[in-house]
Amino acid sequence: MQINKTKWLSMALVLAGATLAGCGGDKKADAPASDMADKAAEVAADATDAAAGAADAAGEMMDDAKDAAGDMADAAEGAMSDAKDAAGEMMDDAKDAAEGAMADAKDGMEGMMHDAKDAADGAMADAKEAMTGGAAAADDGDPCTLNIQAGDNIAYSTNALSVPASCGEVSVTLTHTGNLPKEAMGHNWVLLPESAVEEVAMAGMGAGAGNNYIPEGEARVVANTAIVGGGESSTATFNLSDLEEGVSYVYVCTFPGHWSIMKGTFSIS
Ligand code: ZN
Repeated sequence: MQINKTKWLSMALVLAGATLAGCGGDKKADAPASDMADKAAEVAADATDAAAGAADAAGEMMDDAKDAAGDMADAAEGAMSDAKDAAGEMMDDAKDAAEGAMADAKDGMEGMMHDAKDAADGAMADAKEAMTGGAAAADDGDPCTLNIQAGDNIAYSTNALSVPASCGEVSVTLTHTGNLPKEAMGHNWVLLPESAVEEVAMAGMGAGAGNNYIPEGEARVVANTAIVGGGESSTATFNLSDLEEGVSYVYVCTFPGHWSIMKGTFSIS
């Protein structure tokens, strides 16, 4: 048992020594650890402050960014609005310009159509006139168809008629352009050799109005019209082959008293 007691005591002493040694060791490390803790706390506080500052700065930056974004959004919206207005105005202007151009084009087209119609009408009128003139010229231009007039006085409209030798049949139309009846101022157109005028005319008076004042069976008369009064006309037709070469032919009116005055020459050119 004594060993146990000794052992216990020695263990107790060891324990006590160990405890003392441990306490001594704690007291030695206590001051530097506290400083470090303080420093750490300070660092942590600083870090916290820095973090808070950073957070604030970040918040401010976020706010600024948000504001900037808001401003940019506003600006963009304004720009969009302006662009929209500008585009709207441009569209309106373009629409007005297009409508104006269409109106101008329409006016231009109508003007051109009107001008074209006038030109066409003018061309038609000219063409019609040219055709009419051509037809008239064709009538007037036929050298084998002759016209002569006489009125309410003792006279022919011309004292000379001529046809080309190329004519086969020749027609001469006498028109009375006056108002007097054929009984008072009748006229005819009688073609005969100049040498036979007086005899035929004198004999014609005796033949009477019923024979157009031309003696019956008078072979020297080449052709003759009927006696015509105001507004009437008559045509004599004959062949150039009926005329003898080397003979002078004339035309006269055999109405009583007219033959010495109403006389003209008929020639072949
Ligand atoms: Zn006459």
